[in-house]
Amino acid sequence: MSKEYDVVVVGSGPAGYHAAIRCGQLGFKTACIEKWLNKEDKTVYGGTCLNVGCIPSKALLDTSHKYAEAHHDFETHGIKVSKVGIDVPAMIGRKDQVVKQLTQGVAGLFTANKVDGITGTGKVTGANSVVVTSHDGKQEELSAKHIIIAAGSVPIDIPPTPVDQETIVDSTGALEFQEVPKRLGVIGAGVIGLELGSVWARLGAEVVVLEAMDDFLPAVDRQIAKEAAKIFTKQGLDIKLGARVTGSKLGGKGTKKNVVVEYTDSDGDQKATFDKLIVAVGRKPYTVDLLDPSVGIELDERGFIKVNDQCATSVPSIYACGDVVRGPMLAHKGMEEGVMVAERLADKKTQVNYDLVPSVIYTHPEVAWVGKNEEELKAEGIEYNLGVFPFVANGRALAANDSDGMVKLIADANTDRILGCHVIGASAADLMQQVVIAMEFSASAEDLGLTMFSHPTLSEAVHEAALAANGHAIHIGNRRRRK
Ligand code: FAD
Ligand code: AMP
Repeated sequence: MSKEYDVVVVGSGPAGYHAAIRCGQLGFKTACIEKWLNKEDKTVYGGTCLNVGCIPSKALLDTSHKYAEAHHDFETHGIKVSKVGIDVPAMIGRKDQVVKQLTQGVAGLFTANKVDGITGTGKVTGANSVVVTSHDGKQEELSAKHIIIAAGSVPIDIPPTPVDQETIVDSTGALEFQEVPKRLGVIGAGVIGLELGSVWARLGAEVVVLEAMDDFLPAVDRQIAKEAAKIFTKQGLDIKLGARVTGSKLGGKGTKKNVVVEYTDSDGDQKATFDKLIVAVGRKPYTVDLLDPSVGIELDERGFIKVNDQCATSVPSIYACGDVVRGPMLAHKGMEEGVMVAERLADKKTQVNYDLVPSVIYTHPEVAWVGKNEEELKAEGIEYNLGVFPFVANGRALAANDSDGMVKLIADANTDRILGCHVIGASAADLMQQVVIAMEFSASAEDLGLTMFSHPTLSEAVHEAALAANGHAIHIGNRRRRK
């Protein structure tokens, strides 16, 4: 006899665990199936984000940032330290502790919300049935009124650089280095490549980033991307654009292993030798052996499960959310989708506002954006006012000796409604988030301009950018704004 549930969730990443917890809160009898085993072979919840994604990468970014500050910034503040060193295994150990604390936290939340966490691999075998295969091969059928698929994504592999997780690694392997590589290659100047490249560059690696495209961060506002390229280059990242990796050859022995990477750029065929190589060329939806074809769930041409704006699949009782469906592969997008699905099962009218999915690159300075950028507005023929405020004119940024970057706010020239916000700077993600809230409430630049901001804060740069959009920032000249 199969166990019966109102809702069975497949996958406990941010999309799945949010869906499961909200279902539990709403009174549904809920199970969440997870196959992930940690280094100690124990089931862990939280998926990519908690185990090998957002959280561990930020743990290493935070450690390496402190190290870099101790090296390059303390002296400016008059702080004398005689010798700064890095104990890489200790850094990795701390990261593992943070991961452990958070994944255990999800297990605790499951208990608190009466969600049954079930260990094993789930396969959707019918409109209302999921078969779970445990790690010792035992099978159990669960029946459910509704199924939520949140199976997530995995790194993309490219044939020229097969990952061995030793010399050629993916993002997961790049979180486990036990020493700082002398020369590190990174394929892909996307968010993950830049974040992981920054970690190891701050700790002393010579980092070369090979990016096939000619444009740097093409999804980012051009002015902000240009500033980012300038700052990252100054920090020591050697970013080679228009460099397509075509092959690789492993060499050396024991601890002296290396890899020769072949790539082509505008000057022809090139070679570079690295001690480690990170392949960070994107992620793909994970649907291997997940769906019995008889169920009739459709995939799109790129392998994502096809869903509508409410995350409903082509089968009425089955929903899918997070990285396994269309849209940006971001934890918070999956979280909101998971909550939306749970609430719609409870007959609420919840929606996700896909126009306001914020994006962040957690380098230092951070790069963060939401809404439309200048290039998109020009292409759409929308007239806009621009307010740009540099952190060098912000008292708090100067006090912290952290004044690279700017806040750029874009408002509709006719209605003054905020259309986008693009920030490069310290705490850019948190600053941009204030504008996400404003935009969710359809605020105008004037609304933000009339809001009182605490002094002295970095947030005042958001205030000033909003004032600048209407030509009356206080701490900068106001010229040339309507476009
Ligand atoms: P996942 O987190 O991938 O979880 C899916 C889960 O389903 C996994 O635990 C998997 O084991 C399980 N599963 C799959 N198939 C089955 C099955 N058949 N049976 C049982 N279980 C199954 N995003 C951000 O928003 N901010 C960041 O800072 C950020 N940093 C990142 C850094 C790195 C290095 C990486 C790799 C990613 C980062 N991301 C970040 C992306 C983020 O991790 C993903 O967008 C997010 O984890 C997707 O959530 P999800 O729930 O859809 O899938
Ligand atoms: P993202 O999808 O944002 O994680 O970025 C991945 C990046 O990897 C993209 O900018 C791709 O252009 C880049 N990329 C993919 N394949 C190659 C390759 N063979 N050589 C260099 N860069 C690549």
